Formats: sequence, C-alpha cells, structure tokens
Amino acid sequence: MSEFSLIQRFFTHAPKHTDLSVGDDAALITPTHGHQLAISTDMLVAGTHFFADAAPYDIGWKALAVNVSDMAAMGAQPKWATLALALPDANENWIDGFAQGFFACADAFHVDLIGGDTTKGPLNLCVTIFGETPQGKALRRDGAQVGDDIWVSGQLGSAAAGLAHLQGKITLSGDALQASLQALHRPVPRVALGLKLREIAHSCIDISDGLAADLGHILEASQVGATLYFAQIPHTLKIEHAERYVLSGGDDYELCFTAPPHQREHIEKIAAELQLPLSRIGNIHAGAGLTVLDAHGNALSLVKSGYDHFA
Ligand code: ADP
Ligand code: MG
Repeated sequence: MSEFSLIQRFFTHAPKHTDLSVGDDAALITPTHGHQLAISTDMLVAGTHFFADAAPYDIGWKALAVNVSDMAAMGAQPKWATLALALPDANENWIDGFAQGFFACADAFHVDLIGGDTTKGPLNLCVTIFGETPQGKALRRDGAQVGDDIWVSGQLGSAAAGLAHLQGKITLSGDALQASLQALHRPVPRVALGLKLREIAHSCIDISDGLAADLGHILEASQVGATLYFAQIPHTLKIEHAERYVLSGGDDYELCFTAPPHQREHIEKIAAELQLPLSRIGNIHAGAGLTVLDAHGNALSLVKSGYDHFA
C-alpha cells in the first residue's frame, strides 16, 4: 500500500466544520468570530506511553482522547486535529484498528481530522488539537484564589492501578480489573464539564501526571498553597497503598479545578446534569505547596509527584 492510498483509505473522513481537509498542502479552517484558538500537542511513544502490543483501537482512541482532554481543561470546544504518524510497517489490520479507535473518539467529540503526516519509523503518534473558546474565557492554571474550594471529577487512581497490573506490580481481578483497564485504555475527556466551568472555575487542569503533580502546577502558576483531605478524594481502589495511586498515579484525565465557595450549589447542579461525580476535596490558601491530610488530620507524605521523562 502506498503512503497516499493509506491516507486516502484510513484517514480521510468527511469533515463537519472544515473548509478544506486532508488532501491539499494545508487545511483551511475558519475560526469562529470573537473566539480564541486553543492549541495543544501530545505525543505518544510506544514503550513509554503505551505497550507496543496494546490493542490498536485503544491506542487510536487514547491518542486523540488525551488531546481532547487538554481542550476540556481549558474550557475549549475541541474542533480540529492533525495526526503525525510514524509506523514501522504498513500493517493494514493495525492501521484499520487504530483509525477506528481514533475516529470513534473524533466522532464522540466532534473533532475533524484535517491533516497530518505519515512516515516509516519506530511507532510514534503525535496529535495536535485545535479548539475554540470565547475571547478571554479560557480556564487557566494561574487563576486559583485564596479561599477557593478544590474539586475533582470522577474517580482517581484507576488507570494507574490498571497500568501497575499490566506491569505485574499488583494483581487485580474481576470488576476491579475491568474498570482499571477501561480507565487506562479508554479515558473519557471531560469536555462538557470544561465548557460549563468557563463561568464558574477560577483555574483548571486535567490530571495526566497525577493529582498531586497537576494540582501542584496550579499552585505554582497561581502562587498559592493548598490542603487536600484524602478521605474526600473519590476512588474505588481496594489495594495496598491506594493513596499512592490516587495522589500520584497518572492517566486519569479527570479535571481538577478551583472555584469560590458561593459556586458550590451551582457545581453540584452541574454534577447532576452531567451525571458525573464532582467532589470537593480541599481548599486553596495563602503560601505555597500542597499538604494532604488523612482522616485523623495527619499529613500524608507524597511519595513521588508525577512522571518526569527526564528525571
Ligand atoms: P505534503 O508532501 O504536501 O506534506 P503529504 O503527502 O505528507 O503532503 O500529505 C498529503 C495530505 O494528506 C495532506 O493533506 C496531509 O495533511 C494529509 N495527511 C498525511 N498523513 C495524514 C494522516 N496520518 N492523517 C491525516 N491526514 C494526513
Ligand atoms: Mg507531508
């Protein structure tokens, strides 16, 4: 299969809101008047971000989902994406599965694939995503204010537990195993939540590197400190050292955001509307750094914060 027929066959889908899509030297899009473009890139490398033998459908879903999650974290509506692919060979089954997963996610979140690049090389996927947000309304990391509540969506730690299981570090079974692998392989970016938080949250981030590390980015950017109450952080893990997975595990793609206390009722209404648990897990205060208290009010030590590729 030639490079061109591969692109034609697997990566050319009718776009919904694009003037000129795959096939020319560049794509053409018309941004919505009065909006800012939100742009983000995430690269997935075989062996680092996924196992090379993982199901191609899952790799395709996740390659786009992690980028869509960055749009959710900004309160942006995801709209367009490009895909740069390095493939060791043109294995049609693999590419077909990958494309199905990728477009399942694209369809679910109304993203047009508008271009990319395809080369031979060690398996590597790079997606750039473009979203829109009304001028000045994006959710940023630097807006947290003293007195804000800290909230988190969904459940934390499941994806990290799924990864630890696949690495042979722990053994899960039954429903717990299924839920953890689902969280690891098919993360669901919280776009609808991000859009609703535009007028409510002071700051927001998606949890890709673990709650402690990602909340840490908000604290640094906003020059504030925080206290979390571990007992209030939602998780379903029944394993030893669950707190490590909940606080430092990555790949959850839930949103962590801060908002003033007068928004509590409003946020609880949003949780009901979206049928997505939103939990109030701590507060922002003056100072710096993160303290996590257990049910007795004792500080937990944070074993390791986030994944650093160069550490
Ligand atoms: P050029 O040589 O002009 O860069 P290419 O042959 O690389 O063009 O790509 C041809 C067209 O196919 C372009 O519109 C490009 O954006 C698109 N394209 C290439 N690879 C992909 C891919 N993996 N997914 C989507 N579009 C792609
Ligand atoms: Mg090219």
